[in-house]
Amino acid sequence: MEDDLIAMALELLHGGEQAVGNLTSGGTESIFMAVKTARDWARAQRPDIDRPEIVLPYSAHPAFDKAAHYLNLHVRRIPVRDDFRADPQAMAAAVTGQTIMLAGSAPCFPYGVIDPIADLSILAQERQLWLHVDACVGGFLAPFVHQLGYPVPTFDFQLPGVYSMSADLHKYGFAAKGASTVLYRDDELRQYQPFACDVWPNGTMVTPTFAGTRPGGAIAAAWAVMHYLGVSGYQAK
Ligand SMILES: *Cc1c(COP(=O)(O)O)cnc(C)c1O
Repeated sequence: MEDDLIAMALELLHGGEQAVGNLTSGGTESIFMAVKTARDWARAQRPDIDRPEIVLPYSAHPAFDKAAHYLNLHVRRIPVRDDFRADPQAMAAAVTGQTIMLAGSAPCFPYGVIDPIADLSILAQERQLWLHVDACVGGFLAPFVHQLGYPVPTFDFQLPGVYSMSADLHKYGFAAKGASTVLYRDDELRQYQPFACDVWPNGTMVTPTFAGTRPGGAIAAAWAVMHYLGVSGYQAK
């Protein structure tokens, strides 16, 4: 069921052949996992960085600050433009040698507008940064709006700088609470997500996300809703 749900999310958000993902308990956990994965990716790629920072638009969800607090990262929030969207130029100016990650929202929670992800993707590629797109609200909404012919700017894995995304099943996936997805461009990036530990009597224990034992109810409920609605059901909503 998890594989089915992730496959649907990746198809909607144009994850290519290599794209992968996991189910989590909600948007906060999805963002936590993406930030943790980016941190450990940066530790491997950029060992010179000793005070890692993430650069966010002012409108980004506090889940990023929560993750940064737990993960010992620094957050720089940059004012948005007059149209309430992220300001890629100002974010570019805020990037320092300690920056590991950028994020944008599709859409952001406070204003409901989609950030200029295409510009952030270019910036991320130029500066070799991890770009996370927070589509907690829009991940299971914007693709259907686009399919129905309304204009929606490109905000997903079609943009090469997008390394990870969060999309909540328990918002516009219409699933019961406790279901979200965290998605990666490829498994090489996701390799930094799992936690493994072998310093106890039962051998190596590996967990992909934050939880240990996971409740199956929310996953089953999300799977049932996805099959009940189907593409036409989501479009009609
Ligand atoms: C809801 C939301 C989150 C956090 O998700 P939870 O499921 O409440 O943990 C993160 N980002 C955005 C844009 C959201 O709307």
